Amino acid sequence: MNRHFFIAILLLAANIQTTNAQKVVLHMAGNQTFEYSISQLDSITFVGEDLIIEEEHEWVDLGLPSGTLWATCNVGASSPEEYGDYFAWGETEPKSEYSWGTYMHCEGDYNTLTKYCYESECGYNGFTDKLTELLPEDDAATANWGNEWQMPSLAQLQELYDSEYTTKTEKNLNGVDGILIMSKCNDQTLFLPFAGNRNETSLNDIGRYGDYWSRSLNAYDSPYADALSFNGGRVWWDSYLYRYRGKTVRPVRTNDTNTNSNNKFCNLPARLIIENVLQAPVLFTSCESMGEYCTIKSDGQHFLFTDAAGNTDVIYITANSDCILGLSGLIIGKLSIPEIGEDRLRVVCFDCACPNCYQNYNITKPLVLQTTGYAKCNNCERTYNLNDCGNVSDGSAGRALYRYRVNYLEYTLIVNNG
Ligand SMILES: [Zn+2]
Repeated sequence: MNRHFFIAILLLAANIQTTNAQKVVLHMAGNQTFEYSISQLDSITFVGEDLIIEEEHEWVDLGLPSGTLWATCNVGASSPEEYGDYFAWGETEPKSEYSWGTYMHCEGDYNTLTKYCYESECGYNGFTDKLTELLPEDDAATANWGNEWQMPSLAQLQELYDSEYTTKTEKNLNGVDGILIMSKCNDQTLFLPFAGNRNETSLNDIGRYGDYWSRSLNAYDSPYADALSFNGGRVWWDSYLYRYRGKTVRPVRTNDTNTNSNNKFCNLPARLIIENVLQAPVLFTSCESMGEYCTIKSDGQHFLFTDAAGNTDVIYITANSDCILGLSGLIIGKLSIPEIGEDRLRVVCFDCACPNCYQNYNITKPLVLQTTGYAKCNNCERTYNLNDCGNVSDGSAGRALYRYRVNYLEYTLIVNNG
């Protein structure tokens, strides 16, 4: 189907008046066309449920373990070799000058940050928050392309350049220099042009370097955010250019069909069914009482349910139960405060492994439940708030707990993720 047809229909459907659209042209199979003047139309009704709207942005599946799909163009570009727009980190519109003076999330300098800041000496009047990844409203990919798209995380950029999964070579595509990333898992490739970056009013290193933002704040210094840079076959982290700099953005999406909940849940596998939680009073309490949590582990023959006070229940694993308890066991509990946009207190499920120790050092460090609805890692000393999406509440900045999809209804608990 012709994209312009859909755009015209969608504009009408959304009741948007445009000054330059005078006609709707329907392109039928067999090259027949029908033209209608806009003034002839009163409304358009779609009959049936299967309206297929053509995707506006293309992506490529490099067969990466995380399932990440990479867009073939930068935000603001319409072909792979076009540079597209430049964004300060956490801003969603391009502009003519990139400096602390024009940066949205500060009051004029690097030490007056007003959002995404965990060091009081960098915050405006000592301001700090716990945000280490861009929220959707500050993500240039989400804001410009829609909810299914995001700027890549640090881990997604790492995976893209990991020589276990891809090879890199310099390439000139239609007169533009860039890097060609080739999958080692399939025959797919991704081209990223050397778009350089913007500082104040100048454009630097265009045609020489690629400089692409992640959505992750630098873990050591709040005025910086992580970015991947490359020239030729060389790739490096460029995490020490200020956040106000203008860099390009290459969006990602996951191949999860439930795209609205991408941010909340991880892609790791976890599966468990407990048909009657009353078998294990510790689990029953965690599913029914707000703010109560327990861990679920297995010794191969039994499930062990342990609450923060150390009470443990044991039940036999039946022969037909096909379970995966995440990386290091599960944490299950009922929230003490509703999630944003919800009015009920749902049962949530997290991995029992510290996600930052796992991500940074590839080790599984089991968290210790605290009686107050927190879980602590004794290795990196981070504390996570189970009632707040598993976000870090104390210790160094870092990612939230790995979260799994879970359903609790009528005393049956079902974890089904990945
Ligand atoms: Zn840790």
